[in-house]
Parts: sequence; C-alpha cells; structure tokens
Amino acid sequence: MDLKSHIRGVPDYPKPGILFYDISPLLAHADAWAVAMGRMARLIQETGADFLVGIESRGFLMAAPLALKLGLGFAMVRKKGKLPGDVVRHSYDLEYGTDTVEIQADLVKPGQRVVVVDDLLATGGTMNAAIKLLRDVGAEVRAAGFLIELDFLEGRKKLDVPVLSLLNYD
Ligand code: IMP
Repeated sequence: MDLKSHIRGVPDYPKPGILFYDISPLLAHADAWAVAMGRMARLIQETGADFLVGIESRGFLMAAPLALKLGLGFAMVRKKGKLPGDVVRHSYDLEYGTDTVEIQADLVKPGQRVVVVDDLLATGGTMNAAIKLLRDVGAEVRAAGFLIELDFLEGRKKLDVPVLSLLNYD
C-alpha cells in the first residue's frame, strides 16, 4: 500500500513558506493506519524494546497503538505542566527561547529498553530533548521511531540513537 498517498502536504502552515505534512488523512483511513502501525511495529520489534514512549501530541497516536500491538507498556512525554504528580523535566533551546518536556517520575524503570516515538522528524530538537529526559530517568534508549522523516532537515544527525522511519521526504 502506498502510504504517502494518505499524507497531505499543506502549504504555508503554520507559517508562510512551510509545507506541513498532515497525517490526519492516514488516521482517517482504517487500512492505511493499520498498515502503517504494522510496518512500524516490525521495525520497533527488532530493537528489543520492552517499553514505548510517545511525544505529545501526535506521537501518542503512533506510540499507543504500537504499544498495544507489541504487548508493551507506554508512557507520555508532555509539554510542561500537563502531567500530575512527581515529574522529571528537561529544558531545551528553541530558535527563540526554550521549551520543557516532562515525564512522570516513576513510570520508566532504570535499565528499561525504550523506543521513543513521534509522528515526524524535522530538525530533531524535540526528539533529542525526549531522549535526554529518558536517560535522566535511567532508560536505555534503543531507537527513535517516526512515521515521517524530513530528510532535507538532517534531524537524524542530531540523534545519537538509531532512527527508524517509514516515509521519507527529500
Ligand atoms: P523537530 O523538533 O524540529 O524535529 O520537529 C518535530 C516536531 O514538530 C514533532 O513533534 C512534529 O509533530 C512537529 N512537526 C514539525 N513539522 C511537522 C509537519 O510538517 N507535520 C506534522 N508535525 C510536524
């Protein structure tokens, strides 16, 4: 199945000059979503992961079904202030200012073999921050998994783990 035919390129969103890759048509198509999750699950299985983490918010739409499919637990990495109780946080630089990601402190066990999942790899800043956060809580990050990778932004150069991606755009 040609999964790219279910990804919509939206010009000038969210800013002029940006082509936004919209995964909504893929999620709306039951077979396409199932095929995408099946292919991603096979890539992740090869890493030996025993736990999945998804990055807010579209990463959840990949990581949760993948975790169910693989019989693994799942945890959320969220933007600051969205998770209750004790959290561990990691701040990172943006083009202008900083951003912070958090995870609940007790969900990932030391030595747990984690794959971190997001919908799309652009510059790699978001995934890099999530990986650092996971290491802070003692995880062994086996890989970063994406539905889409924007090759021309070279985000994988920023990541020191294997990068798994299904759909690549030049
Ligand atoms: P990065 O930190 O530059 O790699 O940006 C990746 C993050 O931004 C991911 O969490 C994506 O969900 C989001 N993102 C960036 N560009 C797009 C896009 O074209 N479509 C969907 N999400 C995007």
